[in-house]
Amino acid sequence: MIRDNFRVLTVDLGTGRGTIVTMEGRDSVAGGSGLAAHLFMKYGKPDRPWSDPDQPLIFAIGPLTGCFPLMSKTVCAFKSPYHDQYAESHGGGRSALSLRFADLDALVVTGRAARPSVISIGSRHLEVKEVHYLWGRDLYATGKMLRGMFKGAGHRSILRIGQAGEIGSAMACINVDTYRHFGRLGGGAVMGNKNLKGIVINGDGSFPLMESKDYPKLFQDVYTKLTDTDMMSKYHDIGTPINMAILNEVKMLPIRNLQRTTDPGISEITGEKFAELALLRNAACGGCPVGCIHIGFVRERFRKEHRFLYRQVSYDHEPIFAVGSMLSVENCFAVLAIIDVAEKVGLDVMSAGVALAWATEALEKGIISEKETITRLSFGDSEGYKEAMQHLGLGTNEFYRLLGQGTLKAAEHYGGKDFACVLGQEMAGYATGEVYFASQALGLRHSHLDSGGYSYDQKEKGKDPAKAVAFLVKDEQGRVLLTSMVACLFARGVYSDALLADCLKSVGYGALADSLDAVSKNIQQLRWRTRIATGYRPEEVTIPKRFLEITTGKGSMDADYLTALKDQYAKAIRGLAVPPVEVPPASKPES
Ligand code: SF4
Repeated sequence: MIRDNFRVLTVDLGTGRGTIVTMEGRDSVAGGSGLAAHLFMKYGKPDRPWSDPDQPLIFAIGPLTGCFPLMSKTVCAFKSPYHDQYAESHGGGRSALSLRFADLDALVVTGRAARPSVISIGSRHLEVKEVHYLWGRDLYATGKMLRGMFKGAGHRSILRIGQAGEIGSAMACINVDTYRHFGRLGGGAVMGNKNLKGIVINGDGSFPLMESKDYPKLFQDVYTKLTDTDMMSKYHDIGTPINMAILNEVKMLPIRNLQRTTDPGISEITGEKFAELALLRNAACGGCPVGCIHIGFVRERFRKEHRFLYRQVSYDHEPIFAVGSMLSVENCFAVLAIIDVAEKVGLDVMSAGVALAWATEALEKGIISEKETITRLSFGDSEGYKEAMQHLGLGTNEFYRLLGQGTLKAAEHYGGKDFACVLGQEMAGYATGEVYFASQALGLRHSHLDSGGYSYDQKEKGKDPAKAVAFLVKDEQGRVLLTSMVACLFARGVYSDALLADCLKSVGYGALADSLDAVSKNIQQLRWRTRIATGYRPEEVTIPKRFLEITTGKGSMDADYLTALKDQYAKAIRGLAVPPVEVPPASKPES
């Protein structure tokens, strides 16, 4: 299990054959985000479109997966249908542990299957199974059938797509074990383009315990730190939706397509309200004692007599913001019902909710009509949004198919770019100010988690763009180290560089532990080189006017400050990507 090289399974769907490849690079790219970029530079075709069957779909884990708590994420990398450039999306569930116990550091899928297929892998098997009968099925039905078809409950992770992925929506997610997702930038469409309905990873191997005498004590220390901190109460108790009330209070919550940043109606969809009325239970990713996944329920009457069905639906701050506050839907069960529809068709809830918020304002302004939206969209009307979510996932007409490629693509065609809430992709649930807007708009994943811009806005006074950009660059370096270890970023307060070094040493990665600063810098540069090699032009990124029209608890937005931040951050990104693209060392097939 502990080895200096990477053990990678490549599967060519065109032939149905797989190869185990041994690759060098542990001490320069570590794993996770670093390994994913490394693999893309080896297998990817930067100058060809995302839909080229030869483009790889990559899943990579880190050196500490299976050894320490919260090393629970898998990094998925691909050329994105959203912007046709290199993209990363992170997901949890059991995916990372299953890959670890299948004795793999990464899975790389290339080619396109002749017919709809599922890949099933384990420590000693690979099968590409034809599943034409699953094509067109929603995510729930697909999950039920795959769980029945493939053994291994408890050790197994199931990745699957809904209809949104099949039709190539750039908002299609890859669902992981029902309650987690590779949500953003269209990984689901990459699977759909490969005729790949699902991936079943069976962690059916086993490994001896670590021999180092330091390991058991260190594990216990880390476990105690992780479970004794505020993180437990924050993420386990109310969970990430605790942010709804906090952000609303300080006027930093995007509401009604970002027409407002605070609203008293939010009190009905706070984390506290969800916990009081709709929370059924918590769940956790494999290897995580925190268990931040909150699962609520939707209940539907299906007969005139009092007969009901109910489904369990996970919720977090981001989905609640996207289909709650952004759509002014102010009832927690109505929010869960819209999330449920998005889940069923396999859409990323964040992107889809923000896109529908734009569509609602566009309809109000007469830019589009009900001819396009099919149903009446009106802020606060959850029934209309459930129907629209279904149309968006299925691509019912030309309007929804275009909107599924991104809000700005629809706005370019119909008009309404000024109020498209897009920062590189549909915005995340924070309206904290200029530093955050610049960081999400230009950041590599266009995620609020690329760097702590949202927290910088809230804590720092003054408007010094150079200082803010220096913070973003340094903070990103720390985060890429964590995501290369595949640590859940909720554990970033515990896993300091020093603790990560101790963890690595205790399991035998001494050389990597001794060079974490250089390695994280190398990974940061490699990721930016990879993104830029696929066509990214940071200086061309624009931020729609709506972001300058808002007022937060800190006051109104400063256009000059935002422009300076954007320009200086773009230059910094160019600086990070300057060294030439490295060619990964030659790899040799193991068998
Ligand atoms: S804190 Fe939440 S997202 Fe992070 S690993 Fe644990 S359950 Fe998964």
